[in-house]
Amino acid sequence: MTLQSLVSFASNTTSHGSTCKSLKCRECGAEYELKALHVCELCFGPLEVNYDYDQLRCTVTRDSIEAGPKSIWRYRPFLPVVGHEVIDLGTGMTPLVKSCRLARRLGLKNLYIKNDAVNMPTLSFKDRVVSVALTRARELGFSTVSCASTGNLANSTAAIAAHAGLDCCVFIPADLESGKVMGTLIYGPTVMAVEGNYDQVNRLCSEVANTHGWGFVNINLRPYYSEGSKTLGYEVIEQLGWQLPDHIVAPLASGSLFTKIYKGFREFTEAGLVEPKTVRFSGAQADGCSPIAQAYREGRDFVTPVKPNTIAKSIAIGNPADGIYALEIARKTNGAIESVTDLEIIDGIKLLAETEGIFTETAGGTTVAVLKKLIESGRIDPDETTVVYITGNGLKTQEAVQGYVGEPLTIEPKLASFERALERARTLERLEWQPVMI
Ligand SMILES: *Cc1c(COP(=O)(O)O)cnc(C)c1O
Repeated sequence: MTLQSLVSFASNTTSHGSTCKSLKCRECGAEYELKALHVCELCFGPLEVNYDYDQLRCTVTRDSIEAGPKSIWRYRPFLPVVGHEVIDLGTGMTPLVKSCRLARRLGLKNLYIKNDAVNMPTLSFKDRVVSVALTRARELGFSTVSCASTGNLANSTAAIAAHAGLDCCVFIPADLESGKVMGTLIYGPTVMAVEGNYDQVNRLCSEVANTHGWGFVNINLRPYYSEGSKTLGYEVIEQLGWQLPDHIVAPLASGSLFTKIYKGFREFTEAGLVEPKTVRFSGAQADGCSPIAQAYREGRDFVTPVKPNTIAKSIAIGNPADGIYALEIARKTNGAIESVTDLEIIDGIKLLAETEGIFTETAGGTTVAVLKKLIESGRIDPDETTVVYITGNGLKTQEAVQGYVGEPLTIEPKLASFERALERARTLERLEWQPVMI
C-alpha cells in the first residue's frame, strides 16, 4: 500500500449511489478508499467509515426508516455497504423491554432492557457486526472469511458465512465454554482453538491476515464490522419513540460497541432524526479483566493491558483496541466505568432471569451487576431513562452458573411422591424467608 491511495481518489468510483464516502483516520483525518484497511499509514490510528451526512440529512426520514425491513438493514444508508445485495438473516430489531420488576428491585422508574440475547441468527449482538462485515467482505471479493473471537463472534461468523456460502476459518482461545465451541462447529467452519488468551489469538490473526488474504471481520474489515454496532443506538432511539435515553449501561470488551452506540446517537442527532440531548455513557467490565475500568478509576487517559482471568470470557480482552475512546466518552458524558466480581456477575445473571425472564450470559450478568452498583452508589438517578444493553444468551455459558441455581426435585411418577416433594420445597422456602429473631 502506498501513499498514493491517500486523499486523491474519486469518491464515486467505489461507492456509486452510496452514502459512504471513504475511510478516515480517527486521529489525523487522513482519508482512504473503502478497501480492506484498518490502520492509518501515516499515524497508525484506527480507520472509520465516513459518510456524506448532507446527503443523509436530505434523504433519510423517520418514515423512510420505518418503511424498511424489520432488521438492521432498515438503517442501510448509515451502514458501510455499496451494493444492492445484503445478508439479511433478520438480525436486529430485538425487543426493547420496559422493565417492571427489575426496575422496582433496583429503585429505578424508567429502566429499559435492550435484549440482544435473542438476536438472530446466533443469539448475541455480534450478529449485527458480522452481517455488515460479511456483506462488505462479499462486495470486496473475499471468498474466505475469518475472525479472532472470544466466542460469540465465532458463532456469528460461522453461521452467517454458511448462509452466504463463504469459506470460513475462525480462531478462538482453547478454553472457551462448550456452548460457544459447539455453537461454532455446527456450521462446519475450520476452528482453530489457540492455546492462549484472546489477545494472543488476536495477534496471531493479524499475522495470518497479512499472509493469507482472508477477510478478518474484526481485523482488516474492522472499520465495516464495527459500524454494525451503531444499530444498537439507532434501534433504541426508534423504539423509545424517536427519543434519546438519559443514560445507557453497556459492556466493554474492546470498547467498540460502546463507542459505536455513541456514534449512532450522534449521527441520528446530526441527521435531524432525534432531538439533541447529552446521553450519559456508563461501561461494565469484570474485575478479572478490567483495564478500562482501572484507567477510569485512576484518572488515566491511557489503558494498561492486563491478563484476563474471569468467567466473563466473551468480554475478556486484556488489550482493548478502543479502550481510550470508550474512556473519553464515559468521562465527557458524565458516565462511569465500573467493574464487578465473578460472584456479582452470577448474581446479575440470576437477578435478570428471576425478575424479567431473560437468561443472559456472563457479559449480561456483568452489565446488570454494574447497573446495580451504579444505582447503589448514586451514580444513576432513579428518574433517568436508563437503557441497559444485554448482549448475549445464557444458554451458551451454562458452566458459569452451574452449582448456583439449585437442583430439580427428582420424584417418582406418583401423586404422593409429588406431594411429599412439594411439602419439602415449601418448608425450605419458609426457612429461607424466616425473619431473623433478635
Ligand atoms: C463481543 C461482546 C461484547 C463487547 O464487544 P466490544 O469488543 O466491546 O465491541 C459484549 N457482549 C458480548 C456478549 C460480546 O460477545
